[in-house]
Order: sequence, then C-alpha cells, then structure tokens
Amino acid sequence: LSEATFVPYNDTESLKSAVSRRTAAVILEPVQGEAGVYPASNEYLRAAREICDDSGAILIFDEVQTGFGRTGRWFAKEHSGVMPDIMTLAKAIAGGLPMGAMLSTENISGCFQRGDHASTFGGGPLVCAAALASISAIRDENLVRRSEEMGSYLKRELSRLPVSVRGLGLMVGVDIKGDARSVVDAARERGVLLNSTGEHTLRLVPPLVVTKDEIDRVVNVIGEIL
Ligand SMILES: *Cc1c(COP(=O)(O)O)cnc(C)c1O
Repeated sequence: LSEATFVPYNDTESLKSAVSRRTAAVILEPVQGEAGVYPASNEYLRAAREICDDSGAILIFDEVQTGFGRTGRWFAKEHSGVMPDIMTLAKAIAGGLPMGAMLSTENISGCFQRGDHASTFGGGPLVCAAALASISAIRDENLVRRSEEMGSYLKRELSRLPVSVRGLGLMVGVDIKGDARSVVDAARERGVLLNSTGEHTLRLVPPLVVTKDEIDRVVNVIGEIL
C-alpha cells in the first residue's frame, strides 16, 4: 500500500505531525512553481531535513523547475544549504529536448541496480549530448550569475508597478489586483508571452539569456495593461 499525505507549504508543524517512522519520503519543491512561485523559507527547509533525519524518511527536492540556474543558483537548494537525499531534474537540463534525471546520494543510489529504473529511450545519446551542451553553455556563459542579476533587475522594475512581487532569480511571481488571465491575453496581443498560475498571479520565467531591454519591454507592457 502506498499513500501520500499533502500538507500546507512552509508550515513546519503540519509537516512534523504528518511524518512518522512509517514515512518513506518527503518530497517538496524548494520554490513552488505551478502553485504561483512561493519560495520555501530556509527555516522550513532546515526543519524538513531535521524531521526526515529524526524519523528515518528521505528528503526529496523536486528541482525540475528550479534547477540549472533558474533561481540564481545552480540549484535552489543552495539558497538554504540544505542537502536533500534525492533531487529530481528535467526541463532546462537538456535545453528544451525531453530529458529527466534523478540524482541521489550514494547511500540511496546503492538501492538501485542497473535496469531497476528503466525507460525505453532513457539515457539516449541525442538528449544526453544536448544536456552536456546546455550545461556547458550555462557554465561558460555565466548564466547562473546572469539569472541572479537579471532577476534582481526584473523584480526591481516590476516593483514600480502596483503589484506585489516575489521569487528567486529569474523565477518571479507577480500578484495583481485584476484577473491574471486577461493580462496574459492582452500581453499576447502586444507580442509578449506571459503565464498565469492563479486568478491573480502572473509567473515570469524568462530565458536566462534575457536582456535588460527585453525586461524593460515586458515591464512596460504589463504596466500599460494594468
Ligand atoms: C514540469 C514539472 C514536473 C514534471 O516534469 P516532467 O519532465 O514533465 O515529468 C515536475 N515537477 C515540477 C516542479 C515541474 O515544474
């Protein structure tokens, strides 16, 4: 029998009361993506590590969205310094080609034998070459640092508007008073693609190579629409 319990995010007491010696693992996003760009507090992640250690559960960070520079660090876990036992990765790993990966500590990877976790095209040479090229470009073009810098610039410019801004690096959530979907539609008419993750939330996750001019344009368009 396998079962999952969902607990409110950033709520240490709820997590503590949901985890017992019967708990196999706790999985969470260091910054929630689809839910509207909510970063976990460092205290919460440290507490999660402690709760898992105390109960014998493993701690899994889902870094599918936050990994590879998105939050201004190679991985979002670096903001808190908390080390998960397993990290899941995909999306940016191969620069848009379909690939996913699971990293673990040696302790955990010892549980797997070759072939235990198979996938027909898993580990295919094409996407592996794309992943190596993407990771090299992120490193050689200093895109992690750029994500931090452009993210700060984007948040600063957005904060001039009547909105509430949060996020890390180039993973930014913007709460607005009006209907987010109609802002997305109006922006598309002006040639800017945005994404909404809630009735009143815009999610901005531009490419790490985004320029200040492009950010200015996006912020101007959002400002005009609002
Ligand atoms: C997109 C996403 C997934 C799903 O990734 P797939 O590669 O489609 O399996 C999982 N977790 C998070 C946080 C995501 O953003």
